[in-house]
Amino acid sequence: MDSYRGGWIEIIAGGMFSGKSEELIRRLRRSVIARQRVQVFKPLLDDRFATHEVVSRDERRLKALAVATSAELLGSVEIGVQVVGIDEIQFFDAGIVDVCMQLADAGIRVIAAGLDQDYMRRPFGPMPALLAVAEEVSKMHAICVRCRGAAHYSQRVSGGNTQVEVGDSSYEARCRPCFEAYKASQEEEAAVQLTIPQPV
Ligand SMILES: [Zn+2]
Repeated sequence: MDSYRGGWIEIIAGGMFSGKSEELIRRLRRSVIARQRVQVFKPLLDDRFATHEVVSRDERRLKALAVATSAELLGSVEIGVQVVGIDEIQFFDAGIVDVCMQLADAGIRVIAAGLDQDYMRRPFGPMPALLAVAEEVSKMHAICVRCRGAAHYSQRVSGGNTQVEVGDSSYEARCRPCFEAYKASQEEEAAVQLTIPQPV
């Protein structure tokens, strides 16, 4: 934001297809143009697109370092960095909240994008705490595929009942009246069961 001075936390939250990554890239680009030192991170598990880039659906991209944990992220922040961008922050461990606080307290502007809810409309991972501690929150909306209203939900339409289901084709943007709780078909349930590692 234009009022930003010194460290703070801003969160770009919303469902899938709501333009979160585009907005994150837009804000980070402005910092780059202003010749600020910017570092971008994303969780290691998200391999839908290039591993070392944040890529929005409109193909804009920024270099990003994929890290496995919040501790690894903190340890990877270089001296002199003024802005830290984090994409898909909902997939990080709970320690990411404290990491964001530490970075902001140290004078760094933290800009993070993430899903606020999962496909069952449950608050996603560390997002509730991040929304609470952030100076600024932007709630993004997609367009409902049913009625063209403002869509707040990522409706799962296939793919089983795991929370981490990263294929875009398994989801539709839906508004509150059009949202329907997803029930996996028996075939899909069987497929999901096969992917869960069995104890030895
Ligand atoms: Zn709708």
